[in-house]
Amino acid sequence: MKCRSCNKEDFLDFISLNKQPPANAFLKESDFKQETAYPLDVTCCKDCLLVQLTDESYIPRDKLFLDYAYASSISGGLRNHFNQLAKKIKSEFNTKLVVDIGSNDGVLLKPLIESGCSVVGVEPARNLAEQANDNGLDTICSYFNKETVNKIISDKGKADVIVASNVFAHLEEYHIIIEDVKSLLSDNGTYIVEVQYFADMIEEMTFDNIYHEHVLYYTLHSMRNLFNKHNMNVYRVERIATHGGSIRAYISKNRDTEQSVIDLINQEKQNGIDNFRTMEDFNDKLQRNMNEIRELFERLNKENKKIFGYGAPAKSSTMINSIGLNNKDIDLIIEDSPLKQGLFTPGSHIPITSPDILKTETPDYLMIFAWNYSDEIIKKVEDKYQKLNYIVPMPELKVILKE
Ligand SMILES: [Zn+2]
Repeated sequence: MKCRSCNKEDFLDFISLNKQPPANAFLKESDFKQETAYPLDVTCCKDCLLVQLTDESYIPRDKLFLDYAYASSISGGLRNHFNQLAKKIKSEFNTKLVVDIGSNDGVLLKPLIESGCSVVGVEPARNLAEQANDNGLDTICSYFNKETVNKIISDKGKADVIVASNVFAHLEEYHIIIEDVKSLLSDNGTYIVEVQYFADMIEEMTFDNIYHEHVLYYTLHSMRNLFNKHNMNVYRVERIATHGGSIRAYISKNRDTEQSVIDLINQEKQNGIDNFRTMEDFNDKLQRNMNEIRELFERLNKENKKIFGYGAPAKSSTMINSIGLNNKDIDLIIEDSPLKQGLFTPGSHIPITSPDILKTETPDYLMIFAWNYSDEIIKKVEDKYQKLNYIVPMPELKVILKE
């Protein structure tokens, strides 16, 4: 294979998870037979250090079950995140037009309009684009591509700020998308990218952010290399808390590099993020954690324990399929979103149901898949339903027993 950023062919393969279907391909019982599993392996380019899926793990868009079927408005915590971002854009940039790529229901467009900016959203999920337009938040229902760019330029002119928050582009188009952004951006404009940060993934053990839709896993170092190839400069960077640890990078055609970039590049070096040993250590730790979870389930199965799961985000699919759990290990998964209730998890075929099951049934253990929110989830379960025993799988396996 060739590196998706620099085209070189020398790699360190360091994470190999079980073959599995796309993480968002929640399905009905009648579809079990048609399900396809793909490798899910991660490799690192030895030249530019971009961490990426292997070619064998890559699924073309038409086969990749994108999560648009379950696209839903953004939750309260993230709303606050986008309100703060809107304030920042308004106060730091002299903005006439802001374009948001992957604009959801207009969560960023709304506070921007309220502060007097002119905005356009681009959102491929039809239900969300419609919802935004109904609320007067100008949104084009499409992927971000040349055609969209031309339409925006002819309707409203070039953009002073373009935002892409947690939008993972399709890799074949990745270099094209950067060129499209460049042509839409005004000369002094800034492209703001928020993306999961690979250094945090290593630090926090959020390996379940690995799934087929996520082709690239950035450090600042590898992101900078990628944009440099397009004559763009990552001139400022901030660490942010979203999605288990992310960076917000500010990229422009002509602005000079600021201290924040130099500092984080140095920090990455100090933490050995450019050292292959660090990646192999991460994989060793991950495999150890997964083995401990397998052993726990072996024991609980022998004791005939009833186990429920909590939370069915895409990342729960990676966790379940990588460990090799299925509907014999876990009876059902509780999920707040009604869009997934009544369906089954990809690969493992565990039924998904509403939290109200806890009004009538008591599992011996509740395994928390949204484990980075385990405190909040435990509180919610106990306030509303009952006290339970919990399994928190990561960053280290923890079993919490009720008093
Ligand atoms: Zn490379």
